Amino acid sequence: MTYLVANWKSHSNNTQSLIWLKEMEELLPTTPSNLKVIICLPFTDLPEFNRHLDLQKTPFFVGAQTVSQYPDGKHTGDITAQMLSELVTYCVVGHSERRSFNKETCQEVAQQTKLLLESNITPIICVDTPYLDEQIKELFVQNITFDHCIFAYEPISAIGSGQAETPINVGKVAAKIALLTNENTTILYGGSVSPENVLSFTELPGINGVLVGTSSLDPNTFSKLIKTI
Ligand code: PEP
Repeated sequence: MTYLVANWKSHSNNTQSLIWLKEMEELLPTTPSNLKVIICLPFTDLPEFNRHLDLQKTPFFVGAQTVSQYPDGKHTGDITAQMLSELVTYCVVGHSERRSFNKETCQEVAQQTKLLLESNITPIICVDTPYLDEQIKELFVQNITFDHCIFAYEPISAIGSGQAETPINVGKVAAKIALLTNENTTILYGGSVSPENVLSFTELPGINGVLVGTSSLDPNTFSKLIKTI
């Protein structure tokens, strides 16, 4: 199975996300069954997007981009894993933008991961080399078993820069993640993936797919990625 995860970040309101979906339905005659396409949307788009998703035309899975580190309770404004469980099957955690702008720590990301797993949502845990060891240690502290987790290696220098990491380095980091997690872990690469370079990552041994930001926003580019893979 190959994964293609779209991270829309803070782009697209409800109306825009439904236009994107309609355009995708027209562009995509079939999605191959060995490709799992996961669209990670802003919270506000999730209910309507789910309602309009025609699985015959666009057999996509839906994900969120973050989740509260707390369970349901007195945390004003937080969206919990339990709330998301009616809306998504995947959720990105620990994206470098959240670590940087929202000061999320490895410990918080591990708590989010635990809560997602308890709500039967598959976490997509973003990591980069400076904190890879610490992140995996914190996941062990929370007694996480990795068979229901996805890791995404996302070097900060490659995100949104147009300068993807070299496949050789991606392969090395993927091997390290596999070693540290002691499992047959699902590992993705993310950072300036485009229709032109996507196969150099999806065909790497030890890499199970890609996470894309910029290339997921335009339906033409995203459908090209699907067709290329
Ligand atoms: C991302 O934000 O996770 C990402 C991979 O972005 P981009 O594809 O734009 O580099």
